[in-house]
Amino acid sequence: MPVTIKDIKTILTQPAGSKLVIVKIITSDDGLYGLGCATFTQRFEAVHAAIEHHLKPFLIGRDVDRIEEIWQMSAVNSYWRNGPVLNNAISGVDQALWDIKGKRAGMPVYQLLGGKCREGAAVYGHAGGDTPEAVVDSIRGFEEEGYRYIRCQMGGYGGKASNLAKPEGAPDGAYYHRKEYMMNHLRMFEHIRSELGFEVELCHDIHERLQPIEAVGFAKDMEQFKLFFLEDALAPEDNDWFKNIREQCSTPLAMGELFNHPHEWRPLIEGRLIDFMRMHVSQMGGITPARNVAAFGNMYGVRTAWHGPGDTSPVGHAANLHLDLWAPNFGIQEWCRFNELVYDMFPGLPEVRNGYLYPSEGAGLGIDIDEELAAKYPCSNEVIQWTQTRLPDGSPARP
Ligand code: MG
Repeated sequence: MPVTIKDIKTILTQPAGSKLVIVKIITSDDGLYGLGCATFTQRFEAVHAAIEHHLKPFLIGRDVDRIEEIWQMSAVNSYWRNGPVLNNAISGVDQALWDIKGKRAGMPVYQLLGGKCREGAAVYGHAGGDTPEAVVDSIRGFEEEGYRYIRCQMGGYGGKASNLAKPEGAPDGAYYHRKEYMMNHLRMFEHIRSELGFEVELCHDIHERLQPIEAVGFAKDMEQFKLFFLEDALAPEDNDWFKNIREQCSTPLAMGELFNHPHEWRPLIEGRLIDFMRMHVSQMGGITPARNVAAFGNMYGVRTAWHGPGDTSPVGHAANLHLDLWAPNFGIQEWCRFNELVYDMFPGLPEVRNGYLYPSEGAGLGIDIDEELAAKYPCSNEVIQWTQTRLPDGSPARP
């Protein structure tokens, strides 16, 4: 008798800012269940509806062992595919099925992928501040905790603009100034390297805020600071410009957190136009496609750096970590330092010690959820402000 999917629950909770979407698959085997991350924090209700009203009726009664078949069939059951809402919904199911398979085997998921290449995954944290001095203080704080890789931003993505001459009647919004951002950040990195030297590994996220030709110039200007990587130098819509950056400098490039379609990552990997693939694992559709893309990247010397901010749920972070421990071409893991409440809500949440992330030793993904506690922190649903990004003349811009 195969073990089958008996029920699928969608758990929505907001313990620390981000609205999290967790899928719980309950099986026909009493007490056996799995968890997966389906977190698309900005449109969590849409993912919730996709799971409850579309995936759940499609999946009840299916054999939990057939992860690959379920992934393939879920991806095409809607006919229209490769979008963020459905990919996240499918990821919740996919990760939960890997969790279940691991529990049935009595093994952590990294064993099912092929076993460990390393004992812990090196992580980077996010240093920030409003001045170069404050950013240096923030980096030192991370170094004292054992971090050796640190992302540096000043004044948030795109920087804080002081020099804005808006037209009359300009609407409210999250304004920034491209030129000011570039000048301020070049000065900031000069200060950081002069204070801290070149041993600490530094990253920076442009967050697709520049014009393509500005990104080419900025990547070139940043070469002297020997970054570990420069992230999202371009928007996905401008992927074709990566070759121009490559022709100009050797600044390592990380890309992919917004990708959800194979045609977005395939040419960049095949063309060796990026160094790190940074896809958001739930946005790709879960562990199954991430495993395939990691193996594909390995053939081209492109390393993994899965997206891992606070809007990846703890379950999603556990999934990232199992991929990290296995992948021969692991590069780095982004980490967001969850608070105590999140650790209480998600027993088994991976821990960082001396700059390395370690899993709990449980079978499957090794993480659980306290549903009663999660229910005490329901998601609020308000209009998102930070993505209402504008240029000095009021024009809409990418966030
Ligand atoms: Mg980013």
